[in-house]
Amino acid sequence: MSKPNNMSTLCVHAGVSPDATHQAIMTPIFQSSTYVQDFPGQPKTHDYGRAGNPTRDALETSLAALEGADKALSFASGLAAIQAVGQLLEPGSHVLVCDDVYGGTGRLFREFYAKYDIEFEFVDMNVSSAEFKQYFKENTQLVWLESPTNPLLKIIDIAAIATLTKQQGVILAVDNTFASPIFQSPLALGADIVMHSLTKYIGGHSDIIGGALMLSNDQLYQKLRFVQFAAGAVNAPLDCFLLLRSIKTLAIRMQVHQHNALAFAKALEQLPEFSEVLYPGLASHPQHQLAKVQMHGFSGIVSVRLNADFATVAAFMQNLKVFSLAESLGGVESLINHPETMTHASVPLALRKKLGISSDLLRFSVGIEDVQDLIEDVQQALQNL
Ligand SMILES: *Cc1c(COP(=O)(O)O)cnc(C)c1O
Repeated sequence: MSKPNNMSTLCVHAGVSPDATHQAIMTPIFQSSTYVQDFPGQPKTHDYGRAGNPTRDALETSLAALEGADKALSFASGLAAIQAVGQLLEPGSHVLVCDDVYGGTGRLFREFYAKYDIEFEFVDMNVSSAEFKQYFKENTQLVWLESPTNPLLKIIDIAAIATLTKQQGVILAVDNTFASPIFQSPLALGADIVMHSLTKYIGGHSDIIGGALMLSNDQLYQKLRFVQFAAGAVNAPLDCFLLLRSIKTLAIRMQVHQHNALAFAKALEQLPEFSEVLYPGLASHPQHQLAKVQMHGFSGIVSVRLNADFATVAAFMQNLKVFSLAESLGGVESLINHPETMTHASVPLALRKKLGISSDLLRFSVGIEDVQDLIEDVQQALQNL
């Protein structure tokens, strides 16, 4: 391979080499729970499916390459991956979480961990380094952030925060789901752990639930590898195979998602019905400059405010024909979501109000259909109100 570090090339080739027995070009689906040993306690390459599986090994090698990491660990869901990071924490510790975090992540930290004596503090991370420094406590062990955030698409300065977490000896974990590995490389910006919901762009076809952690710190890797093995939230061999197949087209899919999202956001900015169009690729986005520096592209999610009451907002969503009304994002098909009543319904009301997750807010996951069809779909949905 002439350019092994080129993203498109990595997507097609990383982790996948012809199988040793038959030279099959694709890694087979090793649908096996156990492996025969010639001598007790001396397995050849694998001993048991929870501990390891060759199809999963190939997926993890591919995922690590995508984030420029030494290692990756894949899990049965994005939340299982986040949960594994949570297992690093000691009772009595303190965690800083960006306030505009994925609803399920907030629920896990607030509700699931409530009885474990760990304080999760949800803070605004769009602040100066001096202000951010004030957030740290003596027992802070982890900073958890997303950028772009969901659903408001704020951009958080990962490199600036990484400088602080390094000074404080705190782990920085970045949920890179919205950007995908194609458009943002948090490890290169100083993060210790990158997390992905494979369910979204990496899976890309709305047919798999999965999650992953990518990292280069071997000490952290060993601890997380133990959680993956000991707690066992691993993905099935068929899902690993399908994810490997999805990754082959990740780079080209992301280019189309981003191309469509930018054209879509620009078109919606021209429509008076929308009081606000949020997309990091728009010059009007408050952190457009930071996005340009931190990201290699702006990805495919566009959020808007429709200047109308909830009944009208609901009717608009129902009027859409190409966009499907559904949770999730990152698939080839376009989706529309109402964060207040759907993905972010579990966010405490006071925080929803503070963030601006109100009934007028809509989140589009712009797919890879013809973008003119997507724009016309919005136009007809507005006209038919
Ligand atoms: C979907 C999502 C998750 C959770 O992943 P699952 O695969 O649904 O468990 C975490 N973070 C972000 C940003 C997501 O969009």
